[in-house]
Parts: sequence; structure tokens; C-alpha cells
Amino acid sequence: MQKKFCFWLLLSIFAWISTACAVPSAKKTPTAPQTSAQPETVSAPSVSSQAPLENSTEPTWQEPPAQAPEADRSSSGKALKIVRVLLADNQSAATIKHNGRVYVYTQDIEKKYKISAAGTLAVRFVGNGQVQVGSLKSNQPIIIEPAKDTLLTWNDNIYAGKIFVVPAQYTFILVEHADLETYLYGVLPYEMSYSWPLEALKAQAIAARTYTLKTIENVKNKYFDLYSDVRSQMYKGGGKQYPSVKEAVDATKNKVLTYDGKLFYTYYHGNCGGGTDDVKSWNPHAKTIKPLAGASCSHDHYSKSYSWKQDIPSSKIQAYASQAGLSNKIKNIRIAQKTSTGRATKITLHSAKDTKTVSCNKFRLAIGLKSCKIHKISNLKGSFHFEGRGYGHGIGMCQDGARGMANLGKTYEQILKNYYPGSKLTVLK
Ligand SMILES: [Zn+2]
Repeated sequence: MQKKFCFWLLLSIFAWISTACAVPSAKKTPTAPQTSAQPETVSAPSVSSQAPLENSTEPTWQEPPAQAPEADRSSSGKALKIVRVLLADNQSAATIKHNGRVYVYTQDIEKKYKISAAGTLAVRFVGNGQVQVGSLKSNQPIIIEPAKDTLLTWNDNIYAGKIFVVPAQYTFILVEHADLETYLYGVLPYEMSYSWPLEALKAQAIAARTYTLKTIENVKNKYFDLYSDVRSQMYKGGGKQYPSVKEAVDATKNKVLTYDGKLFYTYYHGNCGGGTDDVKSWNPHAKTIKPLAGASCSHDHYSKSYSWKQDIPSSKIQAYASQAGLSNKIKNIRIAQKTSTGRATKITLHSAKDTKTVSCNKFRLAIGLKSCKIHKISNLKGSFHFEGRGYGHGIGMCQDGARGMANLGKTYEQILKNYYPGSKLTVLK
């Protein structure tokens, strides 16, 4: 079976070379009988008319993302609503499954392979800056484009968009170019839960959509706009669609939040511990605007994240302190500065000889503390004991609060108005 397949493959490649060297209008040379799993290679001109991009009929975007790649532009030159998400970096090999027809090609479409049936594509770095997908090798990004109704699976996650295999120096990165709304199908279940009330999911869809578009405005990277983890938003592919998530995303399609006529970073977090804070308390370089200046929250008390106790090994704190420039043993940790809601912005580490004041947010992330809304710290010799409230940075929408409001019958508009006061719900055209 294997040998037979290889024979047909070689014959097919030979046929492609004959076709590519022929005059462009020549009909494709008939090759061996097509089996469903056999890669079919064809010359570029005929393919571009036979295989239109799936997104070419999408509505155009009012404010095109500055970095949208050429391949994602419609014939009118306006960018489509495509989000470029980094799925993985530093890869040397990957396996991508497809449950139907796919096209494999490079951006300049020197060659375009059509694979007609479900199967598996082997992706690998082959040296000299080249990547290989199936039998196509290139030092340019190789694109794996699913046909309509085909989904791609990588690392057990299901993707509906095109996957770009981009060669790096000794490895490759995988980037998905996903339709914005489909991207959101793959964000909501991991940033909230699909089982949460619909109005909370709708508020989350609008916050995530706005955050995505605002991020894209400022992207400098040549190949991707967002990470698929906490550095941007959690994302595990838009191919798996939970009905509740789909309903929330579809019901709010094209809806975003604006302030003063512009998109803004609609930050959100797990639990604010009874009140959110000014964005400046978390990021001193950020500009305070009304929707990010803090809001009251009386709907998150039910959550176990609202009030917590945490013991963190002294060794972990000592490692951070050493990095921060303190060489002696830490004896005490004190809050040096806090907001009116009780969230520490700066903390001071005390050793027997010296002290160091650091950003609480950096400290929190380094040692794995739930939040900076700390009201008790004690040294237990071997570990430090913390007591506090909330989960996350405490800026923008409190997700537990959104859930609490939805459970009380509040609408997504009311939820967003509470956590982003002064913002305006805007429908993009
Ligand atoms: Zn809250």
C-alpha cells in the first residue's frame, strides 16, 4: 500500500513538473487515477481561480488592522477581520490532521497542492531555514488552508482558519489566521466557562472582541497579532464550538466597546475582591480613562476567589528577591503603597541588612500569588503566609462579578456598563 502510494506520488510530481513547464493555457496532463488520499499538484494560475479564499466574501472592516498580511486582503484592498494567533513557537516537528480537503502552498503560490480527503500532514524543520509540509519544502511560510467545512487539528485543538508554518532560524512557528468571530469561539470557553450564564458570556465576548481589535491596532510583529495564552487571551481553536459560546458570540457580532469614539484595552480578570482599580495602579505607563478608572463590585462574594489564604515557600520568594538585587535572607514583606480598595501597588522586601521596594504586580506573578489585594502577610519560617481577596490584576471587568450579575437577571449591557463605566456599546460596520 505504502509503495503504491509513493509510486503515485512520484508520478504525480513528475506530472506537475511537465505541466508547470508547459504553456500556461495547456490543459493539465492527465496523471494516474486519483485516489482520494493522493496529493494533487497543479500549476498556480488554474488553482487561484478554482480555489477562492474562503474569506473573500467576508464583510470588510471599517478600520483595517495595520499589520494585516497581503494574503488576507480582499480585492478592494481593505483588510478582512482576520486575527493572526501564535499557536506555538520553537517547533521542530508537528502533525496536523485534516478531516477533509486542504490546500498547501507558499505565499507566492509557486506550487499549490490540493489534498482531497481527510489525512495527516507532517510538518518539520529541515535545515537551511527551510520548512517542509507534506512534500512541499520552502524557506517561505507554508500555508495549510482548509477548504470549506474542513477543520485542522493540532495538539488536540481544532482550528477553522489557515495555519501558517513560518520558518525561524532553527525551528518554525505555527500561526493561525482565523476569522475574528471564529477566534472568539475558541477564547470564551477558556477565559470564562461555557456553562456560565449567557449574559455573562455575551459581556465576555464583547470584552474579548474589543481587546483583540485594540491589540491589533498596535501590533509590530510581522507574523502574528496575539499569543494563544495569558500573554494575550487563552485560545484553543475556534473549530470546537460550544452552543452557549456560539450563541453569545453570534448575538453580539460586531459589537465592541468604545470610549471617546475609540477602542480601548478592555482588560478583564477573575475576581476583583469587591472592587476594581485604576489601570495606573497596575501599569504606571497606562493612561487613566473613565472605563478603566475603577468600579464597585458587589456580586463576586460567592466565589472561592473572593477571599483566600495562601502559603508560599520562602525559597520561591528568596529566588525572586535575589533576582531583584537582595542577597540576604528575607525576614519580612510589607505593603509600601496601596490603592483605596486595598490593592497593594508596591511592596517592600526586608532582609536583616537591606530593603528593596518592588512592583506588587511583578512580585505576584513571579511567586504565584492570587492577587495584590493583600491584607495579611506573616513569616512562618519556611514559608510566607498571605491572606487576601480576588484573583488577577483587578482592572476592568470582574468575571465572577459578571457571572453574579447575570445570575441576578442583569443583561450584558448592564454588566459592561458597571465594569467599564462611561464606555459606549458600538456596532462596527
Ligand atoms: Zn468583582
